[in-house]
Amino acid sequence: MLNFVFLGPPGSGKGTQSAKLIEDFGFIHLSTGDIFRAELKSGSALGLEAKGYLDSGLLVPDDVVIRMIEQKLDASPANAGFIFDGFPRTQVQAEALDNLLELKGMPLQFVVLLEVPDSILRERLTERAKTSGRSDDANPEIIEKRIRVYQNETFPLIDFYGNQGKLNRVAGVGHIDEIYARIRLSLHI
Ligand code: ADP
Repeated sequence: MLNFVFLGPPGSGKGTQSAKLIEDFGFIHLSTGDIFRAELKSGSALGLEAKGYLDSGLLVPDDVVIRMIEQKLDASPANAGFIFDGFPRTQVQAEALDNLLELKGMPLQFVVLLEVPDSILRERLTERAKTSGRSDDANPEIIEKRIRVYQNETFPLIDFYGNQGKLNRVAGVGHIDEIYARIRLSLHI
């Protein structure tokens, strides 16, 4: 079993690369953004609670996200491993994930940090807005907010995981398949 976190700013390619890894290796993908959007679509209480945060590019409160991940982990069958995508995004979330996985006896092995310059992120998100139907991609101010939130809240996780010796930096620019090959190398698969 291989459990790892995909860390990286919005638009860095975590979802794209996760899809390839799932196809090739059968990991379970826990993408908090995808889960919130699905909850919103189904009109659940959790979706309604998250809506305002998603629309404005702010983080959903830690306790809500952590509870949700805990439920998903409990509900998942035995599998090849978990890809955590979009979670953790804060130090509190990272500590909670360590505790949850320790209790389950399946610690995190790696953190893959996809590094992409801000100028390319802006281009990719603006391009994605044409097909994603995501209001948070369509508005340049919300894109800026999300990049800032990443810098302020999520950047500290680079040191957090660096200190644990788990961080692998991967250049997230180039062809999708090239980036994929770098990621596989960093995961030893
Ligand atoms: P991005 O493309 O910006 O990486 P995601 O699809 O991962 O976006 O997340 C979209 C939105 O969902 C975020 O802007 C935030 O409002 C909410 N969200 C997702 N993951 C988390 C998390 N771990 N903590 C708090 N909020 C989250």
